[in-house]
Amino acid sequence: MVPDDFQERVVLVTGAGSGIGREAAQAFAARGGLVYGADLNERGLAETKDLIEHAGGRICVTRVDVSDEKEVAAFLARINKETGRLDVAFNNAGITGGAHRIEDYPTSDFEKVLQVNLRSVFLGMKYELPMMKRGGGGAICNTASVAALTGPGGMCAYAASKCGVHGLTRVAAIENSAHNIRVNTLAPGWTETPMVVSNSAQNPGFAAHATSAIPAKRGGLPSEVAAAAVWLCSPEASYVFGQMLVVDGGMTVGGFEYIEK
Ligand code: NAD
Repeated sequence: MVPDDFQERVVLVTGAGSGIGREAAQAFAARGGLVYGADLNERGLAETKDLIEHAGGRICVTRVDVSDEKEVAAFLARINKETGRLDVAFNNAGITGGAHRIEDYPTSDFEKVLQVNLRSVFLGMKYELPMMKRGGGGAICNTASVAALTGPGGMCAYAASKCGVHGLTRVAAIENSAHNIRVNTLAPGWTETPMVVSNSAQNPGFAAHATSAIPAKRGGLPSEVAAAAVWLCSPEASYVFGQMLVVDGGMTVGGFEYIEK
């Protein structure tokens, strides 16, 4: 039976039009939450809304550029006007950016990735935290990546942005734990979102090489990764503050397999 632990809860999800964000929005709604989904992709948002409403859940969707302060402020003002509260925020929207060595990385591309992945999390929390404080508490999950723990060649902007996300999370956790607000980071590994699946279809050799390096020998399902975000925001994680939960099929464990003689 699906628990109803988000009943009476108002839940914000960014990147709700696709992948991990869509799965999380569906899971929060299935567990009783009223979801406010944001994304740049309006078609994706409409699909998420259909999926949730067909399953009997509740969702309001808005086109929001999470890197734009005015748009983020207006989104939170809308939630405040319509519900007067915010209990959960999953700050998850993100982009990968291009792949180049540092010396070749276009500065404008570097700045863009930091704006969408890092500035967005700062802006989100800037407007979410006061609402949660007024309501007596809440839970925030910010999406980083295993790129916050490793050195993925060619992806300097992405790795820098995702390290920054966990830095912001830890500061937010320290500043708000006494206000009954828990803030944690989700660090997904290789997750088979539609974009990753279509890239793999175009480059099966790379995909086979990458997944064979994962101890679980497969990529994660978006639903498996979203489940960890939902758990971090649920009452079951009530004593988890300022942590990074890595969901990567063992990719970053760094050991080696034992082969019997
Ligand atoms: P996705 O592309 O399926 O979803 C990301 C969503 O964010 C998209 O719907 C996109 O439109 C939205 N978005 C992008 N820029 C935006 C902006 N400026 N404003 C609002 N929305 C915007 O990808 P996903 O895999 O579900 O990614 C979700 C998060 O997980 C991202 O932060 C990503 O970095 C992280 N992540 C993904 C993987 C993976 O393998 N898929 C691994 C590690 C981390």
